[in-house]
Amino acid sequence: MFNRQLIRVALLIGALFIISTNTVLAHGSNPLERSTIHITRSLNYDAQRANISPQIVKTIIRVFSWKVDFNKDLRKGDRFIIVGNSGINPSALIYIGSKKRVAVFAYTDKRGRTNYYDINGNSLYQSFLSAPLKYGRISSKFQRKRLHPILKTLKPHRAVDFTAKKGTPVYSVASGVVQHRKKMGPLGNVVYIKHGSNYTTVYAHLSRFASGLKPSTKVKKGQVIGYVGSTGRSTGPHLHYELRYKGKRKNPLTHPLPKQKQVSHSDLWNFKNKANTILRSL
Ligand SMILES: [Zn+2]
Repeated sequence: MFNRQLIRVALLIGALFIISTNTVLAHGSNPLERSTIHITRSLNYDAQRANISPQIVKTIIRVFSWKVDFNKDLRKGDRFIIVGNSGINPSALIYIGSKKRVAVFAYTDKRGRTNYYDINGNSLYQSFLSAPLKYGRISSKFQRKRLHPILKTLKPHRAVDFTAKKGTPVYSVASGVVQHRKKMGPLGNVVYIKHGSNYTTVYAHLSRFASGLKPSTKVKKGQVIGYVGSTGRSTGPHLHYELRYKGKRKNPLTHPLPKQKQVSHSDLWNFKNKANTILRSL
């Protein structure tokens, strides 16, 4: 009991120390002023302790989740450095983890939209593939009511079915992390892949999975994740493909997909200079 009390007091003193150092830094008018989130428990918890606004935390999650798996990669002792945190768009966000470091810098394009780019001026995400396989034809589109070929009832089909020969390789449409890889009722052998914080893709009826593919495995864009089959509730070999955005199933053929962005060529020199100045100040 006594020990537990002691730990609690030590934690409190530690937290107060972190808050006070950050407050001192946040009051300066220097554009290179910075705050640090020291990870002790979770990003949300530690950000609050460091006086970082929820809006900036949202930006951190949106930008870094293309490179950092917040469930698996984050460790005690990792840091997020926020440079120029007086506005809603800090000039740089830097993650320093035990395994990797990722730094991104703000750039506002001609239309006035601010995004974050790596030191070479590329967004952390790449463009998605338009289809996850070389297919024969689309046998069923995204629709609210479809006469189900096996159940003979009207059911929504919030996916696209691509017909292809059994064994045709199926690719991940973007880099991401495997969430599920299992046999799941009507979907048969299915793989779920999470891309960034908002997108998930689902690949169903596979005949088999790519070897070595497991939950939490990182996959690259275009990597083979399985092979076309007819497992689960299916009338013949095809890929049932779903695109989920913020948890909702969207039409994969029409829903806007991330396209890699770049700092415009004419601004690149300036952008790199600013980024290097920030990195040198750390
Ligand atoms: Zn389907």
